[in-house]
Amino acid sequence: MFNYFDDLARRQLSGATLTRDEALAVLTSTDEQLLEVVAAAARLRRAHFGNSVKVNYLVNLKSGLCPEDCTYCSQRLGSAAQILKYTWLKPEEAVAQAATGIRAGASRVCLVASGKSPSDRDVDRVAGLVSELKSEHPDVEVCACLGILKDGQAGRLKDAGADAYNHNLNTSEAMYSQICSTHEYSDRVRTVEQAKEVGLSPCSGLIVGMGESDEQLIDAVFALRALSSESIPVNFLMPFDGTPLEGTWLLTPAHCLRILALVRFACPDTELRMAGGREMHLRTLQPLALHVANSLFLGDYLTSEGQEAVADLDMIAENGFVVLGRTQPDELGADDAGTSPGGPLAIRRRGAGTAMAPNA
Ligand code: SF4
Repeated sequence: MFNYFDDLARRQLSGATLTRDEALAVLTSTDEQLLEVVAAAARLRRAHFGNSVKVNYLVNLKSGLCPEDCTYCSQRLGSAAQILKYTWLKPEEAVAQAATGIRAGASRVCLVASGKSPSDRDVDRVAGLVSELKSEHPDVEVCACLGILKDGQAGRLKDAGADAYNHNLNTSEAMYSQICSTHEYSDRVRTVEQAKEVGLSPCSGLIVGMGESDEQLIDAVFALRALSSESIPVNFLMPFDGTPLEGTWLLTPAHCLRILALVRFACPDTELRMAGGREMHLRTLQPLALHVANSLFLGDYLTSEGQEAVADLDMIAENGFVVLGRTQPDELGADDAGTSPGGPLAIRRRGAGTAMAPNA
């Protein structure tokens, strides 16, 4: 019997480019078709990434205190979210936090700092960290995420040994003014282009569940494809109390899977990361999402707590996947179990910037 999504996967494997109508068919598929969509997307995932899961680890170098007004962000200007706020971590703490994630299986460390745009001094500070991490962990990729870059800054990071630069488009160009008034969509595109120009691997993704239409979501995904983003984190809105999007719960677990599948069909051989908010939005469907996405963040997010690292490592192993770069998944994280987040959105109170052990 003809299966539309299986046929779509077959065509993608033959090199076809996903059309807007096909993208819409994925997004508007029914619950009865959900397993067909996942199975078809899983064919693409398996063809390009086998059964590996890339584990990434976030280190929040500087938290809160941002002058920008991104509506989705707990670190924004005027945010009343009760998050941790601190300025730059000491280098030794940043390196120690990263090392914890690496020991737990991370093959990429993401060094993140809040703010619109780094100063040259900030870039020098992060470049020093990058050099130190690369000399201690030469096989681990280091990605920096510092906001909108000025001329010369991407090159400085590249020269220090950085592998990648993250700057998310987040949403479509048409919707951008609804989620931020202090910078523009074009600023974000330009920063991704600057990273590419110096040879940093471009990492750029989405935040979904902010009220975007299907058409706007498709625009954003196709824009990421056009930018040749090599790693696409899909974040599911975490609607922090004290931000303008407080109380915005627009996603269902099944629709989160459709969104991941859309990205997989549009960018079959691109790293696709189920990122912030996966726990509270995919919920019990997280293991199915692993059949579509090939990458995740282990541990905590920038300002909220994620699922326990040991639960993620168990999920990976129990579903027949292996952590990229590791051959003995049973060795990972087994002694590191902690307590579970206290609710659907738990503010981070451990790891970077605290005296508590990180979740890794
Ligand atoms: S997303 Fe970045 S630039 Fe926007 S408010 Fe948050 S930390 Fe600032």
